[in-house]
Amino acid sequence: MQNQQEKPTKKLQKCSVLGPVAAIFASANTGSWRLERPEVDFDQCIKCGTCARYCPPDIITIDKTKKECVSFDWNYCKGCGICANECPKKCIKMVPEGSEA
Ligand code: SF4
Ligand code: SF4
Repeated sequence: MQNQQEKPTKKLQKCSVLGPVAAIFASANTGSWRLERPEVDFDQCIKCGTCARYCPPDIITIDKTKKECVSFDWNYCKGCGICANECPKKCIKMVPEGSEA
């Protein structure tokens, strides 16, 4: 169940049709125990949005007007690495949580 103090992201608030498994997976706040996090090389990024389409909890936002066009909701990123695996430019690498950017 969702902790009272956790607030769902704007994207999650908009979702009205979520299965129970998807809802639990997406709303689990993993910010404190994620082992790895994705890091984007924005010099290589082509702003295609593939990472956002494949992210299971849908916590990647793409803003094509910015050079650093990919942003993550760190409260809900699971560190699963799917975004890094699916990026066609291979410009997302998974780095240990807590390491310097
Ligand atoms: S590591 Fe997983 S949860 Fe985190 S942004 Fe990438 S695909 Fe989404
Ligand atoms: S999938 Fe890779 S190239 Fe495409 S927007 Fe995401 S980080 Fe950039």
